[in-house]
Amino acid sequence: MGDSPTDAGENAGDLPWDTGEEEEPKPSAAELEAEGQAAMFGDAPAEPPAAAPGPAPPAATDASPPAQPAAPADANQPYRVLARKYRPQTFSQLIGQEPMVRTLANAIERDRLAHAFLMTGVRGVGKTSTARLVAKALNCIGPDGQGGPTIDPCGVCEPCRAIAEGRHIDVIEMDAASHTGVDDVREIIEAVRYAAVSARYKIYIIDEVHMLSRNAFNALLKTLEEPPAHVKFLFATTEVDKLPVTVLSRTQRFDLRRIPAELLQSHFAWVCEQEGVAAEPEALHMIAAAAEGSVRDGLSILDQAIAHADLGEDGKVTAERVRDMLGLADKSAQRRLLGTILEGDAKALLSGVFDQYALGVEPLALMRGLMDLVHRITVAQIGRAEPNAPSAEERAALAEWAGRLSAGQLHRLWQLLLKGYDEVRQAPDPLVSAQMALLRVLHAADLPDPGKLAKKLDEMAASGVAASSAGGEGAPGSSPAATAAMDWQALVERVDAAGALRVAQTMRDWVRPIELAQGRLVYALAPGFVGDPAGEFRDALSKLTGVRWEVEQRETGGEPSLREREEAAKAQAEAEMRAHPLVEAAFEAFPEAELVEDADIQPAGRQARHG
Ligand SMILES: [Zn+2]
Repeated sequence: MGDSPTDAGENAGDLPWDTGEEEEPKPSAAELEAEGQAAMFGDAPAEPPAAAPGPAPPAATDASPPAQPAAPADANQPYRVLARKYRPQTFSQLIGQEPMVRTLANAIERDRLAHAFLMTGVRGVGKTSTARLVAKALNCIGPDGQGGPTIDPCGVCEPCRAIAEGRHIDVIEMDAASHTGVDDVREIIEAVRYAAVSARYKIYIIDEVHMLSRNAFNALLKTLEEPPAHVKFLFATTEVDKLPVTVLSRTQRFDLRRIPAELLQSHFAWVCEQEGVAAEPEALHMIAAAAEGSVRDGLSILDQAIAHADLGEDGKVTAERVRDMLGLADKSAQRRLLGTILEGDAKALLSGVFDQYALGVEPLALMRGLMDLVHRITVAQIGRAEPNAPSAEERAALAEWAGRLSAGQLHRLWQLLLKGYDEVRQAPDPLVSAQMALLRVLHAADLPDPGKLAKKLDEMAASGVAASSAGGEGAPGSSPAATAAMDWQALVERVDAAGALRVAQTMRDWVRPIELAQGRLVYALAPGFVGDPAGEFRDALSKLTGVRWEVEQRETGGEPSLREREEAAKAQAEAEMRAHPLVEAAFEAFPEAELVEDADIQPAGRQARHG
């Protein structure tokens, strides 16, 4: 053994090297593939498909293959799932990995190929496809049989074709996920000593290499240290952190990137064109988003979507069907929800959340959808660009919000939604938790951001003080008492400025002025003062003004002291502020908030503190 002469068929056998379908053991893609296949032709695979998201297509297609209006090539051929059919056969077909391809091309051109390569990246970005391409690149002999290693394998020579079909005797694929033991590795090591049977290089492709046991790694390491010249190792892994450093240091590493959603979308559009399937851009947009950077996952979903479409009368992949299939929240429903939040319509919000739930949208997905919406509004606002959205309707809505909401509001929305998301995730009843979290967002959403709130409260406090000091004694404006008080304040400030700080402090805190004129002060002291400051006052005022002062202290009477006025004004302002709808809303949103003195206002957000 040591190779698998089977075709690249569907049977993942038990032979260590035979991994007919590499990278497939993890659930969803395989399931989706299986699902898509079953839906298309009902040729149920050995493993019954597990429940896939969304309503499963009815198995009613068993009897007759569904009509495929415009899929030319498929009439007589067994259906191949898209992920396999559109597996890249050249590096130029490998989308989204240009930097890696360039590096590899350079290495091949200069004949500076490492003995071992490591392909890392999330599942489905094309690690195994890349490994096979590298195998082809190294073993291609060109159409005429004379070619050398090339970044542009011909695809027609015998090695190229055999590798593409997974039947090349010198290209050995092994899935470490199912062959983790030292014995499996030992077989490799034994075989490594023998020269390649028919190719330039003997190539070992070990997928999910991080799954190998420590003993297996140790066994492999000896070979990695001094591999025979005709041997190349191509490792692939999703979890590079789990690889021993000793292995990492002996490999040339290529990090395959997550493929951006736009690139995926255009790729899927191309695939649909090849397949003769009509698809709405929004549908492809949703599939690309759901694929999370993986071509394969996306193609599996597309497979399923095409199967669904075939069940419909027009055979078109529509956004509506994809949405149903993926159990995705309806984008327009999400926008309506955000609208109810921003309008403060709690009742509509609750019923909207419930409706989505009834339609099968997970509360967590709903929160995530709203966060995504807020994120895109924010990005649109910052970039002052057309929002990123598939439909014109959505772009318009996003643009409108981006223009209307402040950056602070958006950030607060995001924060509140993020908090809600965490709560929903941990809640025993996600629906209730989502409703409560969104109600909280609703109550806080129409508030200005903390910075503005602070400023607003500040202004109100200032106007509150002005009102109370101007309106004392019921005689507004120019009452003599008010004027006297103003003069007294000015005088105290001058005392303070002249450096008699302690005397000024006493005047401010304790003196209730009764009569104030140039050279004459009559006052009473607020209760609680111990001692007789009259002499100090006289000296300070005489020194300040250069004239002799007459200072008289009485037992009772007088205007409130400056400090007393200040405190009264503050109390009144606070009462007014609390009564203000804006602040009431703030306290409702943050029950544990407290009003703090405006003397220590910080740039933002001290006024309303989260609990
Ligand atoms: Zn070739």
